[in-house]
Amino acid sequence: MQLHKIASYFPCFGVNKRQEIERLVYEISKRDKISPEKILSPVYSDNFESLKNRLIKIRFPYASKYNKTIRPYLPKIAIKPADKFNPGDSEFNPARIFIEKSAASSGLKNNFRKSFPEAKFTEISSLKDFIRDNKTSGPSSYNKRRDNVFITNEKYDFFKKCPCTKGAVGCGYHIFNLGFGCVFDCTYCYLQEYNNAPGLIFPANINKFFERFRRYKKLKMRIGTGEFSDSLMLDHITEYSVDIIEFFNKHEDVTFEFKTKSANIYNILKSRHSGNIVVSWSLNPQGIIDKNEFFTASLSERLDSAEKCAQAGYKVGFHFDPVIYFNGWEKEYQSVIDLLFNKINPKDIAWISMGTFRLKPELKPLIENRFPDNKILDEELLAGYDNKLRYPYGLRYTIYKSLLNSFKKYSKKLPIYLCMEEISIWQDLKSA
Ligand code: SF4
Repeated sequence: MQLHKIASYFPCFGVNKRQEIERLVYEISKRDKISPEKILSPVYSDNFESLKNRLIKIRFPYASKYNKTIRPYLPKIAIKPADKFNPGDSEFNPARIFIEKSAASSGLKNNFRKSFPEAKFTEISSLKDFIRDNKTSGPSSYNKRRDNVFITNEKYDFFKKCPCTKGAVGCGYHIFNLGFGCVFDCTYCYLQEYNNAPGLIFPANINKFFERFRRYKKLKMRIGTGEFSDSLMLDHITEYSVDIIEFFNKHEDVTFEFKTKSANIYNILKSRHSGNIVVSWSLNPQGIIDKNEFFTASLSERLDSAEKCAQAGYKVGFHFDPVIYFNGWEKEYQSVIDLLFNKINPKDIAWISMGTFRLKPELKPLIENRFPDNKILDEELLAGYDNKLRYPYGLRYTIYKSLLNSFKKYSKKLPIYLCMEEISIWQDLKSA
């Protein structure tokens, strides 16, 4: 039986009910690699509630064991093959570079010209006008974003407090909003849903950021660039890190973080710093990197880079975020932690964060379209305390507890925090 024929089995159900059954059968069939017929025959019922409940138990066995009521997110299945991500050429080689008129004589433009002599350079009045006149959206446009670069002069949006998530324990982080978009392609990246620009944006006026920072600065603040982009992905071209490190040498009470999945540390290593710079890496088992973090540095390249930065006197940070649950997760994450502490002395670590995979419901169809063979959506993701889809509470608790125990084997003094997690998980972990 083809998936689209499922609807014909339930002629008495309305559109919404059929859609929900179709979605449940689709997700079970994809995860368990069995035909819809085999799923439906043992549970078949023409009573909608009864059939739906039976399917929910198969789709969410862990959550069904612990929760009386489960309200899964069951959107319409709408997969367009044309939206599929094609890893193609991993090398970043933009075809078009657009420069805002006011940034036409910038050093950043010259750096891009030297790096991409074949690209077509075009002057535009402003990015805002360009977006207004060239509206794009959806996965197929996101797939093409690496073709276009925008060199801009930022005017308003310099810094912001990390919005965290409703009901979570915040960590007081601030975002240094230096550009938008990423050359890497992670299946779970929230920028896929957040992005409305048809390319990657790089401000040329970093000095304006520094000028504004003097007014924005707060005592002992933590701030970083890795929220709407990867801090070091193109640092050999932008050379942002050179100016940033030099600037923060004069603000030793502020901690600045470069957050990356790259091994692009050449400028970092050659800079003279004041000890208030943290270079951090997001870590995952190599199997997860291979299937979910396209074009990024391997786990060993990330750890080698961290070792070099620590040797150069930088504090280093690590983000176990997102932790992705899969069969065998515990052993794999334990190995990542062992590899990490084989290279890095705990005293060089500024912080470690942990956060399990979560996503806004709106991101789910985008991941399904761009990465139809993904496995990350196969696990049990249900609306959590902030309406984001998350693993069930008990599973998240088990994951954090296991990672914490592994960290403790190496040091009991590591500064560890949870990213975007609810208060009760923090409390349960503390009292365990
Ligand atoms: S490295 Fe970060 S910003 Fe870049 S695609 Fe991956 S998750 Fe998104």
